[in-house]
Amino acid sequence: MSKAEKGSHLYNIRHSLAHMLAEAVLEMFPEAKLGTGPVTDNGFYYDFDLPRTLIPEDLKLIEKKMRKFVQQNQSFVRRDEPLEPAKEFLKKIGQPYKIELVEKFAEQKGVDTVSFYENVREADGKAVFVDLCEGGHVENTREIDPKSFKLSAISSAYWQADENNAQMQRIYGLAFESAEELKKFEMQLEEARKRDHRKIGKELGLFTFSELVGAGLPLFTQRGTLLRDTIIKTIQGIQSRYGYQNVWIPHIAKRDLYETSGHWDKFKDDLFHVKGKHDTEFVMKPMNCPHHTQIYKSQRRSYRDLPMPMAEVTTNYRDEQPGELLGLSRVRSLTQDDGHVFCTVDQIKEVSGDIVKIIKEFYTLLGMWGTDTYWVSLSVRDPEKPEKYLGESKNWDKAEKFLEEIAQEQELNFKRVEGEAAFYGPKLDFMFLDALGREWQLATIQIDFVMPQRFELEYDAEDNKPHRPVMVHRAIAGSIERFLSVIIEHFAGAFPYWLAPVQTKILPVSDPFLPYAQKIADELRAAGVRVEVDASSETLGKKIRKAELEKIPYMMVVGEKEQNESTVNVRDYATKEQKTVKVGEFLKQVESA
Ligand SMILES: [Zn+2]
Ligand SMILES: [Zn+2]
Repeated sequence: MSKAEKGSHLYNIRHSLAHMLAEAVLEMFPEAKLGTGPVTDNGFYYDFDLPRTLIPEDLKLIEKKMRKFVQQNQSFVRRDEPLEPAKEFLKKIGQPYKIELVEKFAEQKGVDTVSFYENVREADGKAVFVDLCEGGHVENTREIDPKSFKLSAISSAYWQADENNAQMQRIYGLAFESAEELKKFEMQLEEARKRDHRKIGKELGLFTFSELVGAGLPLFTQRGTLLRDTIIKTIQGIQSRYGYQNVWIPHIAKRDLYETSGHWDKFKDDLFHVKGKHDTEFVMKPMNCPHHTQIYKSQRRSYRDLPMPMAEVTTNYRDEQPGELLGLSRVRSLTQDDGHVFCTVDQIKEVSGDIVKIIKEFYTLLGMWGTDTYWVSLSVRDPEKPEKYLGESKNWDKAEKFLEEIAQEQELNFKRVEGEAAFYGPKLDFMFLDALGREWQLATIQIDFVMPQRFELEYDAEDNKPHRPVMVHRAIAGSIERFLSVIIEHFAGAFPYWLAPVQTKILPVSDPFLPYAQKIADELRAAGVRVEVDASSETLGKKIRKAELEKIPYMMVVGEKEQNESTVNVRDYATKEQKTVKVGEFLKQVESA
């Protein structure tokens, strides 16, 4: 969102503030040894070797000093020095890490001079701070709004990211061009914290992790499974109109399968290996494409069988680094809404065009298909590096042309990106922006000329000769777990009615009205509504607060009046409106919604 390119004004502001940070730390700890201080995606950091551990209160003091320095209108003045005098100088001012940097520059870049930047105070022309640096600053700190930055965190880091080196303390700062932008960023950060899918998943009771089961292996509750199933059934419902039928494959396969597909060499260390009683070596499947080729290959195929779509929602297993696991975003068991279409080169347009229609319909339902909420990368070859791509170039030419035609004819918001194609074929990658403006790649259509060759797939063409089919890989939601993490945060847990795991919750005002509540629930269930009754002994007030927290689209309060009149009192979560209606009226209203 706020990433600053080197050379931009924002970059210069951030980098200059790193100098201000070092200047402030040195004023506080004259014996501090400076590490390095680069620009980050939303500010800057600087590493220090300090006489004591920093506490959060220190940040306020350091920040205050930085503000003072910024307001002194310090200018950045460059000075070049040959290597030896530079090292002498750094020794004199007691900065051993900087001496290491000079030696590293000399060795890696072959330079014979290095540059220093001095900060010169406007009032008395005095040089108040100096740092070894290659440049990229504002001319003068008066260009920096003293309210546009903030120190945000402390962490530890090893010098040069090597754990054999000294441990340093890292101070992070946020920095923008204006105080408003800083405020906006902080609000977004706060909103992202509130929407964190791990927090909401817990509040809504959607999924859990168990130490006994293992890290990165989410367990879905009844509600969470309803949510998953609704997504899966919706996609299946849409694609069945385009001829997709489900297949099913086992979750382990012989190593030979992945040797043939070519994945073994690259990915064998990221797989879970399974050893049976006999000698055969199995792995938990990390993907489904190779299995699906074997279903295709189980019979002699004719051009009349093509295109042949097959789909499957199935779980794959990858041995991710424990440190990289994160809620549902990064898991070891990921469920793919996978699909493959085997077709001829000339059918690529029709097949991919249908997949685009499926993607469009699904994301329209989610309210995410707007010109400013998605874009498509038409990922094609790098014309400079034809050797990077496998397969016949005349087929590539055709496939790239077809995908571009589809993008134009279906009026996709697309960009042609050269060099982004996979080595096995061009693709369309669909990026969506969530409610916080973060971009996620979710759906994809990938043409593959290579796998059919590795598995020697064939079909008999009209000329009665065997030809090689093309394989089109497609995902609509991508990994269901990652997709869930995105939409939980996008909707902040308040799902649209069609997607909500519990659509309606019935709250009897007290126990005597429980039978009536159950009767209404039966009626709603018969009409296909996902409904729950709160049969707890809590007060009505507490029941209402609980349903609110669960973000259930409609709650229905039933008591004496409702029972006598055969009605329900409906409260709409989104609009906060309340009204008393007959069940039939409610059903009519939600059906048309
Ligand atoms: Zn600098
Ligand atoms: Zn695939």
